[in-house]
Amino acid sequence: MTQQVTYLPLTRDKVEWVKSTIRDIPDFPKPGIVFKDLTTLLKDPKAFAYVIDVLAEKFANSNVKYIVGIESRGFILGSAIAHKLGLGFIPVRKPGKLPHKVETATYELEYGTDTLEIHIDAVERGERVLIIDDLLATGGTAEAAHRLLKSIGADVAGMGFVVELSFLKGRQKLPAGVEIFSIVEYE
Ligand code: AMP
Repeated sequence: MTQQVTYLPLTRDKVEWVKSTIRDIPDFPKPGIVFKDLTTLLKDPKAFAYVIDVLAEKFANSNVKYIVGIESRGFILGSAIAHKLGLGFIPVRKPGKLPHKVETATYELEYGTDTLEIHIDAVERGERVLIIDDLLATGGTAEAAHRLLKSIGADVAGMGFVVELSFLKGRQKLPAGVEIFSIVEYE
């Protein structure tokens, strides 16, 4: 009998290894921001497979019907997780990209606002979904995605990220009762 491979709970070694595949780009896109560049993780086949496997395992029993990915790095991760779990994929996109009728959610940025959109008929009322993005920072993006999903009737079971910038306290912006999971944390 083949042994089922499990990755959870995460070991410190593995987390440090995933961290080592992520590149810091200081002062991008503006002075003072350290951009976590995941292109270096994604082009490493072992690291890419590992983060997909971990996120898939974490939410394998959450009884969701769809993976929702946030444009654009959430598409790369979310579609791979959807494939792994045998689920459908739903995109949350920047304004003006989706062709059918949309629901819109606006959220605050440091300067100004940003908007996300989803097709109004992306789910049936009460269907369970999981939201995936590459990184949780202030939580504005994930909170807006959650609001969008609720507005079209979805039940958000969880949110998964590769990276969490815990010092920005994004979790505090997210609703209680939604499971939030990240692989790598920066404190
Ligand atoms: P926030 O809404 O502040 O939680 O920001 C999360 C979104 O912005 C994610 O889609 C990230 O891809 C992106 N993001 C924010 N801060 C960073 C960062 N320091 N490095 C890389 N991506 C970031």
